[in-house]
Amino acid sequence: MSRVLVTGAAGFLGSHLCERLLDDGHEVIGMDNRVSGRTENLEEIYYEDGFTFHDHDVTEFVHVNGELDWVLHLASLASPVFYREYPIKTLKVGALGTHKTLGLAKEKDAKYLFTSTSEVYGDPEVNPQPEDYRGNVDPFGPRSCYDESKRYGEAMLRAYKEEHGLNIRIARIFNTYGSRMRLDDGRVIPNFIQQALTSKDLTVYGDGSQTRSFCYVSDMIDGLVALMDSDVQEPVNIGNPDERSIRELAEVIIELCDSDSGITHEELPPQDPDVRRPDITKAKRELGWEPEIDLREGLERTIEYFEPRV
Ligand code: NAD
Ligand code: UDP
Repeated sequence: MSRVLVTGAAGFLGSHLCERLLDDGHEVIGMDNRVSGRTENLEEIYYEDGFTFHDHDVTEFVHVNGELDWVLHLASLASPVFYREYPIKTLKVGALGTHKTLGLAKEKDAKYLFTSTSEVYGDPEVNPQPEDYRGNVDPFGPRSCYDESKRYGEAMLRAYKEEHGLNIRIARIFNTYGSRMRLDDGRVIPNFIQQALTSKDLTVYGDGSQTRSFCYVSDMIDGLVALMDSDVQEPVNIGNPDERSIRELAEVIIELCDSDSGITHEELPPQDPDVRRPDITKAKRELGWEPEIDLREGLERTIEYFEPRV
């Protein structure tokens, strides 16, 4: 049994990961300042033996008593709506938060996971994106607070590995969805499901021809655990390569919600990537992992979660 710190524990992925790690028999310390997360996400495990919660901002000095085997750094603003609203917090958690938690991992001689993102590829000029694609990112662009904080984070991990011999893992996560996303998260799936369930028109930005590839949360958690169990100390894409246009996504959600909503078009946010699809050859080969839940099944489960909450 390992003792594990999860930052961003009250968020969407963090709460699912804490649950999984407890189920796997680890002792879990969750840390979050609840800037976008909520402790309700942890209600099923909050009082469980083996789980403790620290309300803490990881951009400040991070301290945990006792030994730690793993540090899993998920804390970040993660939705474009939130990181546009809080660009400085976004940069700080990717830069200072990553630095502080790396320092803790070094002190405790713990294995360290960084949840990077497909956004390190920016608005990609190759599709699908393999890990050796260097990306097309505007350092002064409207999404740069997020993209560059994650690119800086990856560079910090490399530096800690080289200078201090830290044992590192880097997951480049592609669009993931499922229960515990916030209704007001602003990301496309919660927006569309909420709109479809309340008979409002679905707001497709631009003409809806831009693509994304959506991974269901249980597959993502399996992928992150497989990465921790592997010995791959380089970035690995984790996502579902099933690529869809946003227009098609809207149509599927209207159908699955049995909704009478229509579709309305709103302005495309500046520098919204045209395409995004992970090349998961490396994950399949090195982790023996690939996603199992198809889009319709994942959306049905997610709609079930949102239905009583809208
Ligand atoms: P989320 O917003 O649900 O969770 C992030 C959590 O981090 C929140 O609970 C928030 O309160 C916490 N947090 C933010 N700043 C903090 C700080 N300074 N100190 C302590 N806690 C802080 O987002 P998520 O979708 O669960 O994302 C988790 C991680 O995965 C993030 O690092 C994100 O960048 C990455 N990621 C997610 C996706 C996705 O599609 N969900 C895609 C790519 C990368
Ligand atoms: N999008 C949309 N309507 C919405 C929210 C998002 O058409 O109500 C589009 C957005 O412009 C992008 C895609 O859906 O092309 C995915 O957006 P999201 O914010 O979920 O994440 P991103 O992949 O852009 O980080």
